[in-house]
Amino acid sequence: MTIKADYLVVGSGAMGMAFTDTLIKETDATVAIVDKHGKPGGHWNDAYPFVRLHQPSAFYGVNSLNLGNDQIDQTGWNEGLYELASGAEVCAYFDHVMQRIFLPSRRVQYFPMSEHLGDGKIRSLVSGQMSKVAAHKTVDASYMNVKVPSVRGPLYDIDDGVACVALNELPKISRPAAGYVVIGAGKTGMDACLWLLSNGVDPDSITWIMPRDSWMLDRANIQPGEKFANSIVTGTIRQMEAIAESSSVDELFDKVNACGQLLRLSDDVRPSMYRCATVTRAELAQLQRITNIVRKGRVTHISGDTIQLEKGSEPTSAAHLHIDCSADALERRPILPVFDGDHICLQSVRTCQQVFSAAFIAHIEASETDEAIKNQLCTVVPHPNSDIDFLRTTLANTLNAAAWAQKPDLQKWLANARLDGFTPAPGTRQPAGAMPQETMSRFAQVAMPAVGNLQKLLGEIS
Ligand SMILES: Cc1cc2nc3c(=O)[nH]c(=O)nc-3n(C[C@H](O)[C@H](O)[C@H](O)COP(=O)(O)OP(=O)(O)OC[C@H]3O[C@@H](n4cnc5c(N)ncnc54)[C@H](O)[C@@H]3O)c2cc1C
Repeated sequence: MTIKADYLVVGSGAMGMAFTDTLIKETDATVAIVDKHGKPGGHWNDAYPFVRLHQPSAFYGVNSLNLGNDQIDQTGWNEGLYELASGAEVCAYFDHVMQRIFLPSRRVQYFPMSEHLGDGKIRSLVSGQMSKVAAHKTVDASYMNVKVPSVRGPLYDIDDGVACVALNELPKISRPAAGYVVIGAGKTGMDACLWLLSNGVDPDSITWIMPRDSWMLDRANIQPGEKFANSIVTGTIRQMEAIAESSSVDELFDKVNACGQLLRLSDDVRPSMYRCATVTRAELAQLQRITNIVRKGRVTHISGDTIQLEKGSEPTSAAHLHIDCSADALERRPILPVFDGDHICLQSVRTCQQVFSAAFIAHIEASETDEAIKNQLCTVVPHPNSDIDFLRTTLANTLNAAAWAQKPDLQKWLANARLDGFTPAPGTRQPAGAMPQETMSRFAQVAMPAVGNLQKLLGEIS
């Protein structure tokens, strides 16, 4: 069978969906979407049952449809901040977008349970039928290679009889374990700890294996709307000033930490990881109740009585439950050009804002013709991993924002893009971080010295 479409989009995860939504709104193009999953939403289909967005729903999903009701949570550890969709809500939302918007447009064909083998060849995972998508352009919406623990098991050895589960299994617990060992200190590990604590587990019953401490973002600084605009802008300006004034990397982190833009678990340990993990102050206070933190590197082997790590060991027992949170959800991928002839590779153009990035790339595809200009506007900001990546992504983000600010049409698009939680909105809609003119000028004044200092500090490292 040959399927004809202008674009073949490989992946109906959040990025493939956000790209397609903007593309079909801004052009007459037809699209064929192929995905191995049976439903749109990508890794959200495999995530643990208690997962929620780490950022407000207000700027997640696709540009053309709100996710959630823009409500402020009245209870819980996210109290006072904008709502976070659950994994189930995210999946239902993307299913709605596919069934109620994309397919009725008659410009999108959807091939779930189908694997793209390359060159437009697809194979149904159910019937085995082979088809060919004859498209003018192929959009790789799978390049970010997101891996959640349920689909990527642990890389360490586990002896028979040791209870070690992905955190998807936690809600199935039917009797208390002798203790809980959370393996991994990224956002997934934090979510596992918070779930245990929210279910009344004594913090002293939790052992947290933390190969690296993490710099964290405060969710109060990642909020849409006027209610938060002033504090967010003031915080960002303070961060830029702190970056500009620092004469070393350590000083930079100390200053950015002191002005509340980056958080850490312990004042005594300098984090070496930065991956955009996002928490509230209330969640951080909960995590700080856990004192049995093991900083001895990665787990290599778990036996009935010992957890072997790269730099030591730790006692355990067959009655302990080990919770694997070690999957590298978002690894740092090599940078590829976003636009390369008839191939588009979706990557982040704003740090840790993948869906915004996918919609932005679609807009650039729809509005620009020159490939060099397209790639310049879509300079990739790869997913961070180490502490130094905080400097790299802040620099790349600021340079992209400066390039976009030169183009009034782009500013207008950004101001009306619901996925853009950050760009000030002169005139048109007043969403996100709408800033008065004098604040914008102040922002421009502090950004350039910060850029200069980031380039200097990064130059000294390399
Ligand atoms: C727990 C968790 C919480 C997160 N919270 C947020 C948040 O609050 N805000 C935020 O911005 N980001 C968040 N993220 C980041 C998140 O990864 C992105 O928001 C986004 O979901 C990534 O989507 P994607 O389309 O790049 O990848 P995926 O969801 O992995 O989708 C890729 C799709 O491609 C398909 N595919 C791959 N190869 C093939 C092939 N050969 N043939 C056919 N199909 C193929 C896969 O089946 C998959 O469905 C979170 C991530 C995790 C793990």
